[in-house]
Formats: sequence, structure tokens, C-alpha cells
Amino acid sequence: MSNGEKNRSGPQNPWQEAAIAVCRSPFLSVKCPLCGTLGVLGKWNLLHEKSREISVDLHCSACGSQESVQIEMPDNAFTNYPFERLPLFAQTIAKEVESIAIRVRQYIKSMPAAAFTTHPLWAEAKWSATTYKFHPTSEAPPIMGLVFENVEAGLEIFREAERQMKHEDRFEEIRVSIIEGAVPGQEHRPGYSIHICADPDAIAAHATLDDFVVDPTVVPFLGQWNRHYPVPGEPPMLAKFKEEFEKHKEFLLAPTIRRDGQLFMEPMLGIVKNVIFFRQLSDINSPDDPDATALLLPQFITPPV
Ligand SMILES: [Zn+2]
Repeated sequence: MSNGEKNRSGPQNPWQEAAIAVCRSPFLSVKCPLCGTLGVLGKWNLLHEKSREISVDLHCSACGSQESVQIEMPDNAFTNYPFERLPLFAQTIAKEVESIAIRVRQYIKSMPAAAFTTHPLWAEAKWSATTYKFHPTSEAPPIMGLVFENVEAGLEIFREAERQMKHEDRFEEIRVSIIEGAVPGQEHRPGYSIHICADPDAIAAHATLDDFVVDPTVVPFLGQWNRHYPVPGEPPMLAKFKEEFEKHKEFLLAPTIRRDGQLFMEPMLGIVKNVIFFRQLSDINSPDDPDATALLLPQFITPPV
């Protein structure tokens, strides 16, 4: 093994070759170095974001042999496979994500949407629920309210967006998506995820403009998410929201605060949006999908009883 470690650019050992083949086609079994059968599949995760080194666990279904190797990630491969390996990657890049959020703040004027979605106060503000408000006779666009447990922190995130964006997201750089479908293990409890992140293409565009380089594999981890579990018997708010959005082609993203058990929306701090992504969990089948993290993380929270 030490040979392979030293000569990474030189000849690969057979298991490293198998690992490269597996990473290039994760869904197809490759040839087993031991028994020669096309029976080897692998799982892997990125070890270091900068060196692109990945740890690959290989298993042959024909002869049962197992091997773990480290290789340089082949071009165009997933950073992590399958989904279950995403938390390992998230841990690896936690520091990187933090440092990007700090750097984004230095470019707040040219990247206000990215600054909004990575604002350091999100953790403190505790986005705990999502609610909607509709005009009684449908003469105005619907409002999507983000409920914050910490009133001041939540309002400050939107106040800063107001200062920078003047209630507009002109180039639709705040990406909002609603993903329906039960996450594995929660099939009995229907719900949907709401994911707010900076548009990956917008970040990539700024990367050239401002000499601001962000690894594309890190971008999906720069957002905020909330899992919503509708109360049984409650009117279907999401269906109504879709209908109203379809009609007005617009919605207002606004902070909402909880006082004495009541919810109060703050539309004066809202951001006008003309784009939203309505998706199904089953449509997301790659760890590189911008919404992959939003679907994975809810598995670690327990739905309300
Ligand atoms: Zn084998």
C-alpha cells in the first residue's frame, strides 16, 4: 500500500484502478482485481477539498473482498457517493464554508444575494417554520414568511438585505426551492423542504468578476433550509401558494416573528421574487444537485408528533 501512496502519479495498484473506474461510473460494477468478475461497486467521500483526495471503499459482490483506497478524484466525478456520504463531506468543508461566508461579506455590494443567504446571523435567528399569507381576493401576490425564533437576529438579516437590495432581487440570485416528498425513514410523516441558497451560476459569475474563487462543490452547502410538516387537517397552504404564484408570477419573501404565540409578518422588510423552484424529492438523484443538502439534512431532525 505504501508504494501506491508514494507514487500517486505513477502506476496505480489494481484496487486504485478499480476505484477510478467506479468513480467514473458509479452505477456500473467494475472488474474485481481478485476474482475478475464484474462485481465491484464503491462508496466514497472527499477527504480534502483542496487536494481533491477521496477515500473509496470498494466491495466485490462476487467474492466478497473489500478494500479501501485513497486516490485523487477523477475529473467529472461526484465528490461523494452515495447521498449518505454527504455529511462526511459537510464536516470536511465546515471550516471552508465558514471562511467563504466571511469573504462573501467583503463583497457584499456586488454579491448581496450571497451575503443574504450566508449571513452569520442565520444560526442565531433560528428559522423554525415557514408560513404563507394570501390576499383575500387574490389581487396581490402571495407572501412566504420565514418564521424566526430570535426576532432581532431574523429581522437584522432582512434589514441588511433591504439596505443592499432595496426589496429587489433583480437578477434572481437568491435561489428558493420547495422540495416535496418524504425523506427516507419519514415516509409516515409527509412534509417538504424549503431551501434558500445563492444561485450557483451567480456565484460562479462573481468568481471571475471579483477574483472571488469558490469551489463549486462547496456551493450547495452555503444555503439555509427548513423542513415543514403540515398539520393534518390544516388547509393545504402550499397548494394555494403554488396557485397564487402561478397567477401573479411573483411572491414576497418576508421575515415573520412570533410574539405571545402569534405570528406577525413583516412585509415592509420583504424581498420581491419572480422565480421559485418547485421540485420532487425523486427528481434529485445526484449529490451535485444544488438541493441535495436540503434533502439530506432533514433526516437528522425528528418530525413533530
Ligand atoms: Zn471479487
